[in-house]
Amino acid sequence: MILVTGGTGYIGSHTVVALLDKGYEVVIIDNLSNSEESVLNGIKKITGKTPAFVKGDVKNQQTLDKLFQDYPKINAIIHFAAFKAVGESVEQPLKYYDNNVNGLIQLLKTMESHSVNKIVFSSSCTVYGQPGILPVDETAPVVKPESPYGNTKKINEEILFDAVKSGKGLKAISLRYFNPIGAHPSALIGELPIGVPNNLLPYITQTAIGIRKELKVFGNNYNTPDGTCIRDYININDLANAHVVALEYLFNQNVEYDVFNLGTGKGSSVLEVISAFEKSCNISLNYSFAPPRNGDVEKVWANPAKAKKILNWKAKISLEDTVLSAWEWENHYRKQLKNN
Ligand code: NAD
Ligand code: UDP
Repeated sequence: MILVTGGTGYIGSHTVVALLDKGYEVVIIDNLSNSEESVLNGIKKITGKTPAFVKGDVKNQQTLDKLFQDYPKINAIIHFAAFKAVGESVEQPLKYYDNNVNGLIQLLKTMESHSVNKIVFSSSCTVYGQPGILPVDETAPVVKPESPYGNTKKINEEILFDAVKSGKGLKAISLRYFNPIGAHPSALIGELPIGVPNNLLPYITQTAIGIRKELKVFGNNYNTPDGTCIRDYININDLANAHVVALEYLFNQNVEYDVFNLGTGKGSSVLEVISAFEKSCNISLNYSFAPPRNGDVEKVWANPAKAKKILNWKAKISLEDTVLSAWEWENHYRKQLKNN
């Protein structure tokens, strides 16, 4: 049985679907600080199965102890639970260090006391900052990230590395995500930003549906072909599947600690994403150029060759299909809200 922390969140919920589809039993722990319990209905509709759910905080030792006692079949963990708003982390760094770093520490302590020794961790390409060489591979230097949020990823990778090295049998994988976007093709689960979205795709879909007036494109004078920033946008279902193969790698191979980039290998500019959205969804998007956003790196995209070689995983779904799935989810979700 797999424990998925943060399993009602965006990436967690899609990964739970991928796990259930593959026949794994799943228990989720989530404190619902950035998600809704109704996500479980979507998971059930897609898979025909309901994962066990515990509403609780991964920082709470008693909650975790009880969870491991109640579900003694847990033999691995995928750890998504964290706060992820970069800007908020600059304003409230302690909130982020407390939740993201203490959450992992508490989890590792509890795993040790219940003899569970496998963990897959959600890291991020923010650990590379602005890489000198593109596409960036896993041997590139990890720099001090721009934000406390990014720093929690770097620190947590180091904690995992040291905990593995201490020789108590822990096996861990850090997955460095590039930019996850899109939704499940059923449109029954997707990204659910609370309040004004920080990320590009939810801002685009909310603008297209009329909740936001216009998208501000942050910066059009970067040293890129069209002047806007470049990122590696990866489909959420491709990303979710990578967690299943990473887990199987931990189960089946003699690995102690490893790190993988999860990206497509292709960079897209903000204008290219807008144009893919307009074309796929047959919509004209209201946008204008605005000054650059503080802390944005100019361009980053992955070299995903290591994940292909070792995990036999690669991203398959196109940017066009992915932006369309985000749009279908936005429509489905708003319709649901209206009907309730
Ligand atoms: P999300 O906010 O949708 O999901 C995180 C979930 O964790 C939420 O459901 C939230 O309620 C829960 N949570 C937070 N703190 C908790 C705690 N202390 N105890 C229990 N539950 C808690 O975020 P997401 O986009 O699904 O991200 C999942 C992970 O991937 C995070 O660690 C995030 O930092 C990382 N990540 C995300 C992105 C991205 O662009 N979405 C990129 C790189 C890395
Ligand atoms: N972006 C933008 N307008 C927005 C949100 C994002 O122009 O309202 C740009 C942002 O500057 C970056 C890209 O879109 O170049 C992706 O941003 P996002 O916040 O989604 O991901 P990040 O790469 O910053 O984690």
